[in-house]
Amino acid sequence: ARKLDIERLRSEFPILQTTVYGKPLVYLDNAATTQKPASVIKVMNDYYTEYNSNIHRGVHYLSQKATAEYEIVRKKVQNFINAKHLHEVIFTRGTTESINLVASCFGRKFLKEGDSVMITAMEHHSNIVPWQMACEEHGAKLKVIPINDKGELLMDEFEQLLDETVKLISVTYVSNTLGTVNPVKKIIEAAHKQGVAVLVDAAQAIQHIPVDVQELDADFVAFSGHKMYGPTGVGILYGKEEWLNQMPPYQGGGDMIKTVTFEKTTYNDLPLKFEAGTPSIAEGMGLGAAIDYMEHLGVHNIAEAEGQLFSYAIDALQEIDEIRFIGEATERAASISFLVGKAHPFDVGEILDKYGIAVRTGHHCTEPIMNFFGIPGTVRASLSFYNTTEEIDKLVTAVKKAVTMLS
Ligand code: PMP
Repeated sequence: ARKLDIERLRSEFPILQTTVYGKPLVYLDNAATTQKPASVIKVMNDYYTEYNSNIHRGVHYLSQKATAEYEIVRKKVQNFINAKHLHEVIFTRGTTESINLVASCFGRKFLKEGDSVMITAMEHHSNIVPWQMACEEHGAKLKVIPINDKGELLMDEFEQLLDETVKLISVTYVSNTLGTVNPVKKIIEAAHKQGVAVLVDAAQAIQHIPVDVQELDADFVAFSGHKMYGPTGVGILYGKEEWLNQMPPYQGGGDMIKTVTFEKTTYNDLPLKFEAGTPSIAEGMGLGAAIDYMEHLGVHNIAEAEGQLFSYAIDALQEIDEIRFIGEATERAASISFLVGKAHPFDVGEILDKYGIAVRTGHHCTEPIMNFFGIPGTVRASLSFYNTTEEIDKLVTAVKKAVTMLS
């Protein structure tokens, strides 16, 4: 792997040059959203200043240029995740919408009374609630793969739960709270032996590890632009064409139709069948630039740099006597959740903030994990390749100060 020049890369992110309360920003909230390199900001600005226009409909020059640029991004996504077909790449507003789309459309086509959908005990609310809604609508049951105290899936229990009622499994690749990297490939293999579809929530994976949808053989993969150095408001649903072709459309509107009369509407082919209405065009361009950026660095190189920083951070934080890690899976990436002594995570977060350190505190949209561990929330430091060992040292110093102040 090629060693990344972190100092130079940091200079490409305008926000990383700013200060908070007069102190250099230490941004450790990358699981919530990553910062954006100048190249991403630029393409969005270029679109608005040079060729802003609606896509897919216009005969005029600007619209054709915008459409071409937007469709190039679809191609970039296809290459980035190694999708077999271009039309298996659906633009959405983000992971949440991608999952809701599948829950709604797969649900309407394939879920009925007595069926079940399987998720895990470590899912983000956006990979729980849409399935509860679909199950309620179709009379299906939700099954949950439990976890152990380290925050790992109990794979024996998974095998037990995987009976003939299961129609779909939806599982996060990497936990946003525990950092656990789940054995999604194993889950997919087992599921496919029984003809069960699998959705992989890659919201916390796509920016950290190479994701190859054909190698995984995933049926659906969801992720957000804003967590991979792109803008908010755009995300991707990858789906195998066999499934997507069988599923009814999600929303009705422009672009998703072939012909409309008051008597009957015929739907468009993939991918437009699932893309009703004007999309987030500038954001789409931004996502394309984000993919260019990540490919320029090399996802393997990003993974290696982050892996080293992760180990450094765990070792450094472990020096604090009062620290308790929440999530100690053997396979982990990027997110480190912890508590210190009896301090409430919110109070720790407030103190860190005063040192210019941005972490997240609370349940991280994973309340069932908090209930499992019997805690109100955690302090979560989540890493990107652009974080440095000096920043980790600042975190450790500030956590130590928090321990003194709060005990
Ligand atoms: N799944 C996981 C694992 C996440 O971490 C997140 C974002 N925190 C989501 C889904 C939802 O992503 P978005 O809010 O971008 O739709």
